[in-house]
Amino acid sequence: MSDQNTPTRMRVEGRVAVVTLTAPPVNALSSTLRESLRERIGQAGQDAGIGAIVLTGAGRLFCGGADITEFGKAPQGIGLGELLAIVETSNKPIVAAIHGQALGGGLELALACHHRVATPSAKLGLPEVKLGIVPGAGGTQRLPRIVGPEKALEMITSGQPVSAKAAHAMGLLDALTAEDALVSDVVAFAEDVLAAGRTSPRIRDRNDRLAEARENPNLFKDFRDANTKKFRGFEAPEGCIRCVEAACTLPFDEGLAFERETFLRLVAGAQSVAQRHVFFAEREAAKIPDMSGDTPTLPITRVGVVGAGTMGGGIAMNFLNAGIPVTIVEAKPEALERGLETIRRNYDNTARKGRISAADVETRMGLLSDGLDLAALAECDLIIEAVFEDLDLKRAVFSRLDAVAKPSAILATNTSYLDVDVIAGMTGRPEHVLGLHFFSPANVMRLLEVVRGEKTDTRVLATAMQLGRRIGKVAVVVGVCHGFVGNRMLAERQREANGLILEGALPQDVDRVIQEFGLPMGPFAMSDLAGLDIGWSAQTSKGESVRDILCERDRRGQKTGRGFYDYDETRKATPSAEVEAVIREVSQRQGLTRRAVSDQEILERCLYPMVNEGAKILEEGKALRASDIDTVWVNGYGWPVYRGGPMHWADTVGLGTILERMRAFRAEHGDAFNPSALLERLAAEDGGFSGYDRRAGQAA
Ligand code: NAD
Repeated sequence: MSDQNTPTRMRVEGRVAVVTLTAPPVNALSSTLRESLRERIGQAGQDAGIGAIVLTGAGRLFCGGADITEFGKAPQGIGLGELLAIVETSNKPIVAAIHGQALGGGLELALACHHRVATPSAKLGLPEVKLGIVPGAGGTQRLPRIVGPEKALEMITSGQPVSAKAAHAMGLLDALTAEDALVSDVVAFAEDVLAAGRTSPRIRDRNDRLAEARENPNLFKDFRDANTKKFRGFEAPEGCIRCVEAACTLPFDEGLAFERETFLRLVAGAQSVAQRHVFFAEREAAKIPDMSGDTPTLPITRVGVVGAGTMGGGIAMNFLNAGIPVTIVEAKPEALERGLETIRRNYDNTARKGRISAADVETRMGLLSDGLDLAALAECDLIIEAVFEDLDLKRAVFSRLDAVAKPSAILATNTSYLDVDVIAGMTGRPEHVLGLHFFSPANVMRLLEVVRGEKTDTRVLATAMQLGRRIGKVAVVVGVCHGFVGNRMLAERQREANGLILEGALPQDVDRVIQEFGLPMGPFAMSDLAGLDIGWSAQTSKGESVRDILCERDRRGQKTGRGFYDYDETRKATPSAEVEAVIREVSQRQGLTRRAVSDQEILERCLYPMVNEGAKILEEGKALRASDIDTVWVNGYGWPVYRGGPMHWADTVGLGTILERMRAFRAEHGDAFNPSALLERLAAEDGGFSGYDRRAGQAA
């Protein structure tokens, strides 16, 4: 192997060997890197001229952790645990010199070293829990020994990295270096260690911090109680807690073995498979077949927003947060005033919670300008329309925008359902028009559906994807169709939920089943939150459906204090006898004999048609891949990440099973349950959505 391809480099400065990880992009601890590290440490160990070893990373970070593409495959070469035992038992002190990030296996490597030193900007963390696993190379045993079980529990179960400053304060780092003199400072640190002539401390021998847990027998119970809601449904956080408990109660080696067992159990489990699927799916979503990293993008230095309502305000905040100036235009002064006040109030609330400073609020508000005429948007590079969901209004707005916007400007609509091609057709630049479908609250939700119109230029699409990343969104390309990917599938679930309550279930039954499955709320609680009167009007109400009657009685959802549920001042929902009576009356009017509906039927009736609609979306090419649909549902609708998204979940249920149930439901309830051709074909082939590639026209 030429030196260039070696995953490590070694040089000697005085009595200190500096071993550098050189495996771009993130110095992942692949089998070749592990082998190479073993060799280097062995070599330095045998060299009598060398007294200490410094481990550092080339590129932008120390080490990003394990190579997760190796998960689930037969282990090759030396295992990470074995390598770390060699590091830990080295008779020459090893110092980790950390910059950028030390994450997962990268931090575990640092924990096996005798000393840890970092630049002030570095971040350290154990994010394994986010992939449905526990740290598997001693992280859960060594971290509590150095920072105490309480802080370790927090870091390991949240997966959130801590700053080098915080790490130093909690004892995880021995020292901080100058920002740009990491290696020279750490070499000097190693020389000092040698000069002092002390024996090298090993974290495994430290027990002082564990005494805390023994003094506080309720520590683990209290931690579980405080986090019940956050951990609901997930297996990995409990695994993490048990490993930290093991660190406190078992000798080090037994604790390590317990951690290993837990890791192996979880990594093979359905939740971790699903969570890793989501991790890769989000990265995959950025890849567009007819675009490459070289596709040129257009500069976006000023953004315009039309409409300062619920969505317009939130959309504007995304750009202000990223330091991009925004001009917001409203139709009426009162609406503009209200919109601006809401934005300021949101920022003030965030500042009150300490998440941003008062100065940040002023900086962001300072980037915002406003107007009552679309002409104010003449200098914007991108204009996003968020006026009422009314096609004629949107057509008028786009026709005017085309006249006032500069020729290079991109025009986007935030429509939920309307035809983006029709809207684009109102302009002389349809290639510069697309949909940017934000989710409510737009400044919080991570999902952005990027709707590619028939004529949308690849540069425009590439610009939107890049901008999505810049404002911290997960952007997914979708095609033009009613409701795009997310709302189109949601409509299937809503139709069945409405049907189920007429057949015999109650809103609270349907909501409970959906919530127990892992979604944050069921369809009826969600309707109450959004408002039952979206798209309803008293003039056109026929007073026939449950919704018509509830709206007529001013039960319009949380905003009126009552909807499908009754709400108290704390917004706690209670099932309503009045609503039940309305439902029974409508059932009777429709000639339905109410029956007991099982939880299993609720689940299948609500979710299988969604999967089927997802298959139609794929078949029609409105989503590029099944994993994009999963990304939409996880980031836009709270689909539980441990179930990987509806299409991944469908694969785990088995497409044959879903097809069979769809056919049975069709026999009873009609054409809404017509299976898609793709579902039929994949089920017949015993295939799944995960391998399906529409361009290849078959399951891979
Ligand atoms: P909203 O009623 O809260 O706000 C619309 C705003 O547009 C109002 O303030 C209105 O005064 C303003 N407006 C109307 N005509 C205008 C014009 N000619 N020029 C400038 N401003 C004008 O509505 P919303 O909930 O923010 O929805 C806006 C769009 O976003 C709709 O297309 C909707 O379908 C879509 N959307 C809504 C949600 C949601 O959850 N609310 C989610 C995604 C997308």
